[in-house]
Amino acid sequence: MKHGLEVKIWGTRGSLAAPYADRMEFGGNTSCVSVRWSDQIVIFDCGTGLHGLGQELIRLRESAQNFRADGCSGEVWHVPEEIHIFIGHVHLDHICALPFFPLLFRKGWKIHLYGQPMEGESFKDTVRRIVGPPFWPVTLDQAAAEIAWHDLVPDMVVELPDGVSVQTFEANHGPGALLFRMTRGDVSVVYGLDNEVTYETMDAYSQFVDGCDLLIFDGMYTEEEYKRCKGFGHSVWMQGVWIAGHCKVGTVCISHHEWNRTDAVLKEMEALAREENDRCVFAREGMVFFLSREL
Ligand SMILES: [Zn+2]
Ligand SMILES: [Zn+2]
Repeated sequence: MKHGLEVKIWGTRGSLAAPYADRMEFGGNTSCVSVRWSDQIVIFDCGTGLHGLGQELIRLRESAQNFRADGCSGEVWHVPEEIHIFIGHVHLDHICALPFFPLLFRKGWKIHLYGQPMEGESFKDTVRRIVGPPFWPVTLDQAAAEIAWHDLVPDMVVELPDGVSVQTFEANHGPGALLFRMTRGDVSVVYGLDNEVTYETMDAYSQFVDGCDLLIFDGMYTEEEYKRCKGFGHSVWMQGVWIAGHCKVGTVCISHHEWNRTDAVLKEMEALAREENDRCVFAREGMVFFLSREL
């Protein structure tokens, strides 16, 4: 991929997986998104969707094949040996599949894990406390891959290969969480789960997402649900539609779907959203966006 970024959704559910037949169009896995560019990949969050992504990377490496940019640039993409994983926060729906990421347990990979230190503890120590006894039998010390740990703070920029950068932003979510804006050249994607947009946080949030090509928005609640879920750290899906219009966002992708929401209900919501903004879609597992202004 000489230009742009390819974004793929591997998990769409918020808080809890939803492996039920009437929810499969939008998907049952929790949050995970990959972004690929020239023989590089970034992964946002380790929800249960991460497992499918890991399997795909292994399959491609072992079959010596490479996958294409889904009919977009059409260029061949090689699986890199270094993988960058950004974890916005360590709530279970965003980290539970980390111990199942198959590349961790194979030699020859280097996995960069980025996240925010919490309550005086490094990101590494927090994750090692979760992934290990008594919560899980396997520890990250048993990983065959090399792990590189990176502490993040809000409002910093991480530089990645080929001029790609990831900017952090402090979310309004529980004890602390980060959102990410990833940029390559003149295109950018905001990974914006889990975040409660409020009157107080609107200005800073609007500046952070302004003009991005793709906004992955935490639209977990309806307006009715929000009345009883205010302060839980999530937004209303219609807010994403309005903010996208106000901030000149290219496409807004509503995600972190509430686990009880069936396909039929999500399709109704999506139709309402598209009446307001026809560049709005509701995230479906397997959905791919190719962001480029040069092709
Ligand atoms: Zn979540
Ligand atoms: Zn959360």
